[in-house]
Amino acid sequence: MRFCIIMIIAVLIVGAVGAGSAPTAPTAVEPLKIITTNFPLYDFTRRICREKAEVVLLLPPGAEAHSYRPTPRDVVRIHKADVFIYTGKYMEPWVEDMLQGVRDNNLIVVDTSQAVLPDLRGSEGQEPERHDQHVHHHAVDPHFWLDPVLAQKMVKYIAAATAGKDKKNREYYQKQAEAFCVELEQLDRTIRETLKHCKQRTVIYGGHFVFGYFSRQYNLEFVTPYKNFSPNAQPNPRNIARLIKIMKQLKTKVIFYEELVEPKVARAIAGETKAQMVLLHGAHNISRQEQQRQVTYLSIMYENLEKLKNGLDYQQ
Ligand SMILES: [Zn+2]
Repeated sequence: MRFCIIMIIAVLIVGAVGAGSAPTAPTAVEPLKIITTNFPLYDFTRRICREKAEVVLLLPPGAEAHSYRPTPRDVVRIHKADVFIYTGKYMEPWVEDMLQGVRDNNLIVVDTSQAVLPDLRGSEGQEPERHDQHVHHHAVDPHFWLDPVLAQKMVKYIAAATAGKDKKNREYYQKQAEAFCVELEQLDRTIRETLKHCKQRTVIYGGHFVFGYFSRQYNLEFVTPYKNFSPNAQPNPRNIARLIKIMKQLKTKVIFYEELVEPKVARAIAGETKAQMVLLHGAHNISRQEQQRQVTYLSIMYENLEKLKNGLDYQQ
């Protein structure tokens, strides 16, 4: 009798394990679960996958991307996902540590900086350096998503990596990525065309050094009092004073400020120079209001271009 009970329990356990690990009948196809770290990756991935995947943006609305660190709950979500997409170690230095614990499962990890490796730039050779930049020489600029040409490489890379996890939809992802790249090409052409009509080439930026790749692609000069690629260290007063001097020399009427960070530096400079403060969006993340307005990478970039026209003296 006792043996019988043990046998029944054993059969039940084996049955339960069997049912969990190897379903015999095909069930409804579950969408792929993809976790992305910052807004451009989220926006690109949902364009590529549409209904084939459930794409999650790890950053809560309004969170500043550079100072973000994952909560234990975020780590659990990443462990349970099929694909994890991040910008690279210079944007998300916490990723390497976090992945130590997930090496053995089926998670596909996508480091999008690998898509643009030959294009990655250190702090040497940046044009604004000739004014006041003494940035750390080992720093690498992680803001490559703001260059629509590099964004296309990221999109293709994400599509290929996702198809590696979900082979039956390979062609679908590839087609979506191609269609999106056509829109990114259009964006690139529009920026070039528009900037041809701008008399100024110098953008005065009161935020951290975000537009390095963008300015190289479009032959602009971004001047910022910040020393590095993150908003976490405040610029020193001497750099701010130099920026004000440049603005007076150039008769600049607009100072741009960055998203999701209290624009104290830009406000102080605007107070001193009577310049107008205008948001130039680095797209790291979006606010709750922007989420409700359903902003996209493309809408942010086109809005930025309209504002640059104003700041760079656009003439028909
Ligand atoms: Zn940044």
